[in-house]
Amino acid sequence: MTDKSNPPLRAVRIMAKCPICEKTGTAEYQPFCSKRCANIDLGRWLKEGYRVETEEGPADAEDAGREPGSTRQAG
Ligand SMILES: [Zn+2]
Repeated sequence: MTDKSNPPLRAVRIMAKCPICEKTGTAEYQPFCSKRCANIDLGRWLKEGYRVETEEGPADAEDAGREPGSTRQAG
């Protein structure tokens, strides 16, 4: 009988760096270091939301499933 008991995954709490100023984030405003940085990030998001520029032309649907020159007559 081989009973391999795997050790439980350790929940390592790694404080993420503040994406705004790259300081060590706080638990309260993680991953940001402070509420200020959290607001800055939020503001960026909102800004980007207002200016949504998507240059997406009409999708060119090519016949990928088609096999050219394959004329096989099922007999
Ligand atoms: Zn910060």
